[in-house]
Amino acid sequence: MQIYLPELSQKQGKAVDFRFEEDLLSSFSEFLDGGTFKLVMSASLNDDQLVVNGSLEVSTTATCSRCLESFNQCFTTDFTELFTVLKNAPVESNRQIEALETANTLNVSGDYLYLDEYIRQLIILGQEYNPICALDCRGLCAGCGEDLNKSTCRCCSEKENIDLRFIKLKELNQE
Ligand SMILES: [Zn+2]
Ligand SMILES: [Zn+2]
Repeated sequence: MQIYLPELSQKQGKAVDFRFEEDLLSSFSEFLDGGTFKLVMSASLNDDQLVVNGSLEVSTTATCSRCLESFNQCFTTDFTELFTVLKNAPVESNRQIEALETANTLNVSGDYLYLDEYIRQLIILGQEYNPICALDCRGLCAGCGEDLNKSTCRCCSEKENIDLRFIKLKELNQE
């Protein structure tokens, strides 16, 4: 993902739209579970101030922290960032180093803004720390490890019986 700055500077501060739609794994080798992302944004350059804003939509595979099943996780992150274009800065020939520096210092040198590292960090921050497949995921039984979304195990039905008797007792007390 790169933006050619001389083109932006010709527009004299007018916003230009960009759209990138890519495969997660082919852009970032660490997302082994695969998935895709879509980046819709606009950028404008005023003198040495480069303003970028847009939204990042990510669809990836995650492992539920309750039942340990894989499921499709989607999230959207909006962002606005101000980068400073360094003039007469020594131009790094390595795109990866440049992308890393851009993301960490928000400084851009050379003719291109390389967004790879910045987007990688947005994806990591946007991911749930303890993802769950559904709000009502019942998880695994602490007693026998059975996936309670798929079936009830013996320990659970025993517990339900106790609960039922307890409710009966309560009813008796109220009468
Ligand atoms: Zn789950
Ligand atoms: Zn159980």
